[in-house]
Amino acid sequence: MAETAVDVCVVGAGAAGLAAAIFCAEQGRHLTVDLLDGAKTIGAKILVSGGGRCNVTHDVVTPEDYVGTRHLIRNVLAAFPVQRTVEWFASLGVDLKREDTGKLFPVTDRARTVLEALTGRCRELGVRVRLSHCVGEIVRLDNQGASGGRSPARFLIRHQQGVTLARSVILATGGRSLPRPRLGKPGSKQEQRLTELYFGRGGIYRINELRHRSEMLGLLKTQVNLMTQDLNLLFLETLHQHPSPPEDPV
Ligand SMILES: Cc1cc2nc3c(=O)[nH]c(=O)nc-3n(C[C@H](O)[C@H](O)[C@H](O)COP(=O)(O)OP(=O)(O)OC[C@H]3O[C@@H](n4cnc5c(N)ncnc54)[C@H](O)[C@@H]3O)c2cc1C
Repeated sequence: MAETAVDVCVVGAGAAGLAAAIFCAEQGRHLTVDLLDGAKTIGAKILVSGGGRCNVTHDVVTPEDYVGTRHLIRNVLAAFPVQRTVEWFASLGVDLKREDTGKLFPVTDRARTVLEALTGRCRELGVRVRLSHCVGEIVRLDNQGASGGRSPARFLIRHQQGVTLARSVILATGGRSLPRPRLGKPGSKQEQRLTELYFGRGGIYRINELRHRSEMLGLLKTQVNLMTQDLNLLFLETLHQHPSPPEDPV
């Protein structure tokens, strides 16, 4: 069902979406921000990043470290250099430490610290995080949409639970490094089961636990292969013992 228009609707509540929602909401209490995500739980990728410790950034970050339009990346990094990233996380209560490799991790060595800081700040700012809201379509309105007393909504966002009207939309639906639902394609049960198989249902995994999980899956795969070979052998033996009768003469 359509609601009053929100100022900003962020689609995707991963690291990028959470940060975008925080920066928008920090522009002023009067701004209403909705953060929609198709997943049932938040932050799966943050929790697995850096082997469960979340390698937040590096002490040296250059535009060459990224794929994409060089000058845009340069502008982003100039506006938000490493030092500001460190300060911003500290302002959220996440102190970072530098390791010998130059990588910066939370002092707690827990990715969950990062996730909880981001979601906690969203809560403080009144960002409405809406899970199980897989977005299938975004329609640009001709400025005739519901106004909600302010400038009219410019976007209609269709999702699993109905529609959201918004004045601005930020898309932060992520990449393909995990089998997650993408824009326009709600995550199938099979995709969700695959994610759970590899990464569990969220939580903190130490590198040894992930290795163990990977070994377990490798073992499972070998057993399935052996079973397939056995079945093939069985079929061949059955065919050998019961050769097909000679074909009827025409
Ligand atoms: C195993 C692993 C280890 C990693 N380690 C590190 C690390 O140490 N350091 C580092 O910097 N990076 C690391 N990364 C990469 C990092 O996790 C990602 O770059 C980062 O989390 C991406 O954040 P994002 O917000 O762009 O995307 P995502 O985290 O993918 O978030 C996108 C969100 O959008 C939602 N979504 C997608 N489509 C829709 C839709 N149609 N409707 C509603 N919601 C939708 C998804 O459910 C998801 O929650 C790692 C990644 C993996 C997989």
